[in-house]
Amino acid sequence: MKKFSQLDLPQTSAVFDMAVIGGGATGLGVALDASLRGLSVVLFESNDFASGTSSRSTKLLHGGVRYLAQGNVSLVREALAERKTVMHIAPHLAQPLAFVMPAYSCWEKMTYGAGLKVYDLLAGQQGLGHTKVLNRNETQAALPGVRAEHLNGGVLYWDGQFDDARLALTLARSAQDAGAKVFNHCRVQAITPINDQTEHDPSNQDSKPLRAPNPARFSLQVEDVFSGDTREVKARCVVNAAGVWVDGIRHMAGTESTRRIVSPSQGVHIVVARALLPTDHALLVPKTDDGRVLFAVPWLGSTILGTTDTPREDAPHEPLPFEHEVEFILSQSSKILSRPVTRQDVKSVWVGLRPLVTPEKSNGGTKTISREHTIVVDESGLITVTGGKWTTYRVMADDVMKAAVSHGLIKNNVPCATSTMRLHGAPQSQSISITQSPGEHLFGTDIERIRLIEGFDQPIGMGLNEAMVRFSAREEFTVTVEDMLARRWRALFLDAKQALSMAPRVAAILESETGLDPKLDNFELLCHQYQLAR
Ligand code: FAD
Repeated sequence: MKKFSQLDLPQTSAVFDMAVIGGGATGLGVALDASLRGLSVVLFESNDFASGTSSRSTKLLHGGVRYLAQGNVSLVREALAERKTVMHIAPHLAQPLAFVMPAYSCWEKMTYGAGLKVYDLLAGQQGLGHTKVLNRNETQAALPGVRAEHLNGGVLYWDGQFDDARLALTLARSAQDAGAKVFNHCRVQAITPINDQTEHDPSNQDSKPLRAPNPARFSLQVEDVFSGDTREVKARCVVNAAGVWVDGIRHMAGTESTRRIVSPSQGVHIVVARALLPTDHALLVPKTDDGRVLFAVPWLGSTILGTTDTPREDAPHEPLPFEHEVEFILSQSSKILSRPVTRQDVKSVWVGLRPLVTPEKSNGGTKTISREHTIVVDESGLITVTGGKWTTYRVMADDVMKAAVSHGLIKNNVPCATSTMRLHGAPQSQSISITQSPGEHLFGTDIERIRLIEGFDQPIGMGLNEAMVRFSAREEFTVTVEDMLARRWRALFLDAKQALSMAPRVAAILESETGLDPKLDNFELLCHQYQLAR
């Protein structure tokens, strides 16, 4: 029986070039980039990979049509290039998706069309398809289920879609392939800057201290959340990629600045049956009643509706939706769809916290804060990286490396390799649509090995079978039922009630593989929380 990987925690004497705190998009991107440049890297994630914000996104690889409306051209151009890169390096997890914006007047149709042509132009060679102005019939054919009264036409344009939690796992496995040590369920409890960076000649006790050639700057105390064991790990450079929790990590490292880097902003998504919008096109409503955008996106056989943008002072790991957020999504969706969306339609509701960078002078709600990332290097040498979006995780990682080198925290002149290196499990080509159903393609080329494991012919539900769970426990760092049914397989996010019925079997398989408590009770509570109508 394979025991939990945490028992392989690095020995206290180990000194890594870089330690990364946080296993979301940002931290995993940094760990992969740094290890591909030949650095020794360790990453700690206190919960599961992507269990923070990085599994709770709208799952779009996008330049950001609304940032274009704000005139932020360089941000849009950069992200447009990145969406194409991600599709190239992870074709099993990302693909182009056609969006349609319905228009209710000729003026709307023309202004949307003109704006999206600019989006096309900015994408240039990285474009995924041409923007097309649609007449009323074409719009209805592309968006069956959308209210027809006063519909004038629409505009079709292209962005990308991906599976966020599986991409995070794939980054973790790719980093591991490149030599990094990555640990989920391991919390960084304390960070101590090492002030005495000198060494004595051990053969001569009276010798004067020498400056170590490449000293460790930090000592981290790390706890294995399952066993309670703690270890001390030393690193020359520490990257704080803890999302909405970065300010707590800076505080832990003794940073004196009182200015918060992050203002969390909550976003809610609701999942309904595909029958409400039976199409492979996504719908974008560019202006809701209060001036936001609303998405309806086909995903793994269901439809995601969202999202909201609600400032929060606190940052719980499992945030709950506010009643007004649920009402907002249901009422705005009901306005655009030909039949009202009710609480009974909701199969799952999930909530994420955007780590938005706090502006120098706050100018009101978090809606107006830029999504660009920020990198702060403290006097101690602690590097904090946050903000940005999933789409630009690779650029953020490259910028972290540049900051580390320019501040003399690491010595390295190897160029960034992440734009061309295909990620773990990437097939040569991908022909399966990820809008359709949860499927074998999520495992990439690993599926060939999974077919050989016992239980491949034993279905558990929603396309998942026993062999997949066994494989996930053996090779994908899966320990708890939540790891498996929320992030390795997106059952909880798609249909919380069905996920609940699959949980006991998954728990039994995981326990037999790992010998650890798969925390079935916790998952059952979560399933109730993710259901609106019980
Ligand atoms: P996180 O994913 O939160 O990772 C930080 C990790 O640090 C967490 O897993 C946490 O457990 C860990 N951690 C905290 N403290 C410790 C500790 N002491 N020790 C060890 N680990 C610790 N972007 C897009 O590109 N496209 C989209 O469609 C999109 N939609 C979004 C919709 C919503 C509603 C939201 C909220 C965000 C969306 N984003 C989107 C943005 C994107 O999801 C985030 O920018 C990104 O996931 C942030 O990743 P992160 O790694 O910085 O943070």
